[in-house]
Amino acid sequence: MPWQRRLPKEKDELENIMRHFSLVFAWATFLHTLPLFAGELVSPSEKVPKAFEMPFVASTPAEARKWQEQARAKLLELVAVQAPRRSAQEIPPDFQVVSAEDRGEYTLQHGSFCGNDGNRRPCLVAIPRGEEKLPAMLCLHGHGGSAEMVFDPKSIYRGFADHFARGGYVVIAPTLEHREYAATALWDLMRCVDILTQRGEVDAQRIGAAGLSMGGEWTMWIAACDERIKAAVVSGWMCTTAGVFAVPNCPCWELPGFVPVMDVCETHLLIAPRPVLFENAEADESFPLKYTFEGFQRIQRGYRVFGAEAAVAQDVFPGGHAWHGPAAYVWIDKHLGGKAASRYRNAQQP
Ligand SMILES: [Zn+2]
Repeated sequence: MPWQRRLPKEKDELENIMRHFSLVFAWATFLHTLPLFAGELVSPSEKVPKAFEMPFVASTPAEARKWQEQARAKLLELVAVQAPRRSAQEIPPDFQVVSAEDRGEYTLQHGSFCGNDGNRRPCLVAIPRGEEKLPAMLCLHGHGGSAEMVFDPKSIYRGFADHFARGGYVVIAPTLEHREYAATALWDLMRCVDILTQRGEVDAQRIGAAGLSMGGEWTMWIAACDERIKAAVVSGWMCTTAGVFAVPNCPCWELPGFVPVMDVCETHLLIAPRPVLFENAEADESFPLKYTFEGFQRIQRGYRVFGAEAAVAQDVFPGGHAWHGPAAYVWIDKHLGGKAASRYRNAQQP
């Protein structure tokens, strides 16, 4: 009879539905308890402020500059609450060389400098050959990284510091320890810029910064807060606040008081009208692409208010969370006058 033939199938379907339901139920229960494991009772989306304290709403260059002044002062204040800034008179950066190695087109000095907290921090300084004044780059590693890794072509940094050095840039790359709040490295980053400006080989009007991941965040902070940085490459970091909270990310970016101030993508508007390029990998699990597109559109709109739309660009490339390079070297060369792009192209040829 038809119903007898149908019965097993319907029973299967019912079982399937029940199985599916219990799976969904199990997932829902698991996801619901996740925040408890994390010691928090709010879901990621609830961490995105409904309204920000200092959103970028300027419609004229004058309004935009006023916003920058107030927002920069606010950010510096938030960092200072966690780590008071010590002046260079109080604690001189005191860069010291321990050893030097010949790397063909440049000399690599292994040394250290005195950080804002009085402790010495290791760093590498690359000095290209030549007599004339040179542009310079501050090159920054991310979580678990080091100065050595940004020079290593086999790392996720693809040796970007080495490419800049071979392209005629004086490079400083510090090794900075992981901190509760990444932003508190700002004073040490400023010390690195101090060291560059004090070097005879460096043209202080042509200093840039580049970094990947937390190094991208540090690049955002130093370029936003220190106008001595004339061009920047923020790799694997730029995203909206909703995007950073959408996936698990290290909470070290949540400097107390920072999340409520502005959408994190807008912090990059403190760099305007100075040029900034964003690198975003298509399969970056930490910063989902759709949020980086959204963030870039907002930054682009802001740069337009400054009349500087050409000073911002995004390089989206296939692959995962890593430094890319090709557009970045062209970008920095265009704005700081080095030769990293041609040097990089030559190195890629078999
Ligand atoms: Zn972290």
